[in-house]
Amino acid sequence: MENKVRPIFLILSAPSGCGKSTLIDMLLQEYPDMEYSISCTTRAPRGEEEDGLDYHFLTVERFRELIAEDAFLEYAEVHGNYYGTLKEPVVDVLKVGHTMILDIDVVGAAKVRHYVMHHLPPEDPLRAGFVDVFINPPSLEELRRRLEGRGTDAPEVIERRLANAEGEMARAGEYMYQVTNDDLGICYRTLCDLIDVKSERM
Ligand code: 5GP
Repeated sequence: MENKVRPIFLILSAPSGCGKSTLIDMLLQEYPDMEYSISCTTRAPRGEEEDGLDYHFLTVERFRELIAEDAFLEYAEVHGNYYGTLKEPVVDVLKVGHTMILDIDVVGAAKVRHYVMHHLPPEDPLRAGFVDVFINPPSLEELRRRLEGRGTDAPEVIERRLANAEGEMARAGEYMYQVTNDDLGICYRTLCDLIDVKSERM
């Protein structure tokens, strides 16, 4: 599976609590040539999260320095914190023929999509392998149940995430593909099928 596949540049977006992290962990186990883009954020680590593994946890000052240095492929303010994807690691991974997976919000995804489609030539690896997917929760009620069950966020944070979810779901139509995570196994297989077709593994 390692060779002769087209490297893909995969963006996954979903409201928090949709199972996106679980799906990404499963994909990373399945595809040895897939790498996860570690985002920068100014939010505090949650639960067992580790710096440099789940996120690069930065101060607002450091994040703003990186904005000034034009180091980000995209960045956005989500739930009151900055989140951003550094350019260099993404380009480096695609250059060696590996697949890059980005977990970013709808605002960041729109910026990357615009950049890829309007500023890159068709043969550029970032454009040739570009795929974006929005993962929908089965319903907002189910999403609330999952966020509360996770037990990692304060009630006001959960309310903010749910309010955000509605806004994000309203923009799901901007993505090439939408998948609903009402059954983890089915949702996962659908993502694998998309990846296999796009990267010509079949
Ligand atoms: P969380 O705080 O739950 O880890 O992430 C909150 C939101 O930020 C999620 O929707 C996630 O996709 C988004 N996010 C994570 N990293 C990035 C990034 O680098 N850029 C953008 N635009 N959004 C991100």
